[in-house]
Amino acid sequence: VQIKEVEFVKSSARAKDCPRDERPEFAILGRSNVGKSSLINALVRKKEVALTSKKPGKTQLINHFLINKSWYIVDLPGYGFAKASDSARMDWSSFTKGFFLNRETLVAVLLLIDASVPPQKIDLDCANWLGRNNIPMTFVFTKCDKMKGGKGKRPDENIRNFQELVGQHYRVYPPWIMTSSITGLGRDELLLHISQLRNY
Ligand code: GDP
Repeated sequence: VQIKEVEFVKSSARAKDCPRDERPEFAILGRSNVGKSSLINALVRKKEVALTSKKPGKTQLINHFLINKSWYIVDLPGYGFAKASDSARMDWSSFTKGFFLNRETLVAVLLLIDASVPPQKIDLDCANWLGRNNIPMTFVFTKCDKMKGGKGKRPDENIRNFQELVGQHYRVYPPWIMTSSITGLGRDELLLHISQLRNY
């Protein structure tokens, strides 16, 4: 499973402006600062690809990257800016939720969770919202190189606590992968996971 070609296709301000074709999409979502840009760069191995606007409160866009001319990585606006006003949070919910609920080509959401901090309410809320709306998701734990005791090999208490909290809402727990954009942990596993989901 290799990424040979990455093409930035477009930035969309609204769900209805997103590309309309049959290609499968994998949306990447997470709290601001979770390590989303780093992960996308590590996945595609290009520094300049994830050009998302990084300033809290600035207009956030849905970015489509076409991979190997066959599937999309969709970079969604981060949520939970510490400094964002309530209205900025509302913007996130209305337009990003619109994307999730109306995309037939969306195969799965890769929900990024920072493994270096204890479970955050906003991440749990997001996971539960996606679950309630039957949107398939995979938990991608980021920054696993910062985990206590063992350099990202075994899930530590932050990951276990997150899973325990979120697991109360699922009969079948979503797939999960531990990653680090610094050590490259989980990169191949994540690409394999994506290719398996695409072949369903
Ligand atoms: P984004 O706002 O979600 O796009 O997050 P960034 O990719 O910009 O990363 C936010 C911060 O976390 C930056 O300071 C990164 O250097 C750091 N970071 C991102 N990924 C990792 C990782 O895998 N390990 C560690 N230790 N730090 C990371």
